[in-house]
Amino acid sequence: MIKWVSHQDKNITVSLDKAIMQGLSVDGGLFVPEKFPNISLDNLSEKIDFPQFAAHFLKPFFKGSSLEDNLLSLCQKSFNFPLPLIPLSDNLLVLELFHGPTLSFKDFGARFLAHATALLCQTKPRTIVVATSGDTGSAVASSFYQLANIKAAILFPKGRISQRQKQQICAFSDNILAIEVNGTFDDCQALVKKALSDECLQKDFPLSTANSINIARVLAQMCYFAYISFIYQKKQQQPLNIVIPSGNLGHATACFYAKKMGAPIAEITIATNANQAVAYYLKHKNYQAFATIKTLANAMDVGAPSNMMRLIDLWQKDEALLEMTKVYQVTDKAIKTTIKETYQHYQYVICPHTACGFFAAKNQLNQPTLVAATAHPAKFESIVEPIIAHSITPPIALADLLAKKMCYKAIENDYQALMECIKISNNRG
Ligand SMILES: *Cc1c(COP(=O)(O)O)cnc(C)c1O
Repeated sequence: MIKWVSHQDKNITVSLDKAIMQGLSVDGGLFVPEKFPNISLDNLSEKIDFPQFAAHFLKPFFKGSSLEDNLLSLCQKSFNFPLPLIPLSDNLLVLELFHGPTLSFKDFGARFLAHATALLCQTKPRTIVVATSGDTGSAVASSFYQLANIKAAILFPKGRISQRQKQQICAFSDNILAIEVNGTFDDCQALVKKALSDECLQKDFPLSTANSINIARVLAQMCYFAYISFIYQKKQQQPLNIVIPSGNLGHATACFYAKKMGAPIAEITIATNANQAVAYYLKHKNYQAFATIKTLANAMDVGAPSNMMRLIDLWQKDEALLEMTKVYQVTDKAIKTTIKETYQHYQYVICPHTACGFFAAKNQLNQPTLVAATAHPAKFESIVEPIIAHSITPPIALADLLAKKMCYKAIENDYQALMECIKISNNRG
């Protein structure tokens, strides 16, 4: 059985089931695997479908878990939508990760976590608390909606997510509680961390989180990077470079973990917006949190990336991985030009986050390079449509959500107010 260790206090180790239910270690640390299994892909056929591949890739982590026997069905239930790989030119490929119910890659991790959580708390009720910079919220709301024994409180920063993102988070009711906080994403995240470490509150209302700090999300996201690089290697006999638009670095961490476990990935490039914590770390080898800067790629507006410590922990264990890591910081101006140029050159429409990835990829097209397309451009139509001078038809899934009436509660950046919300929603039954 592979144990999960707090990145801060290596004496704290828990099982996978506990790591998923707790989210964060009791000392406030992030769970990291005590070791990385090496996954053999040699005997796999390239005809294997994605859920089967995912179950194979994750198997060593689930040895000894109460989820072990359900792993394949967990992957099948969670990953029940397409994963298209679109070649735009010889060396430029796009992995469209936005075909889930809420049109961003967050659906992979959130659905996997939701179904795992539902299996793990069949007997005891739980409240999931999560802070969102945009797309996590709707993915979590949609994934946990109407699962038995579970409530989900979703905190989002007022005025800092797009109208459509807000409509998507607030389209659910029943067991989903959307909370608009008068503050930034980092404020929302601080409130969540406080609730998770509040033993008094937890006695009455056991809490978990669904942020990208939850290891279940990272595990789910590893799978498609491993899968696509495996398929590409089989077909082209070459490893892929991967470019990842990043904010909280959950997605990037997943890609590094996949490479560490043997997926045929060449170089990994982290593309950020103007927020600079990652670029600063790579330059100075010293972590510093920054105040959040508001940008056009708002789901990546993070000054203190919550998965940074997982990456640093990995890079410290494996310096070669750090050496080959690249980072690009992309300005709003470059985001706009990249959306426009990508449309002109390839007739391909990208969202502002994906644009950060395209900007970074431009510099390495002498090698096969895959950009992770993190969200459907229709989620950010107010930014993208004026740039390409064209309207984007929202996919049916989005149109359905947008037609629903919004349901949410507005609070100040205040812990007492959050506690009240959680108590009221639980007492409602
Ligand atoms: C969450 C998100 C990102 C950033 O992913 P992290 O795992 O936080 O680095 C990028 N693009 C979109 C559309 C997102 O929703």
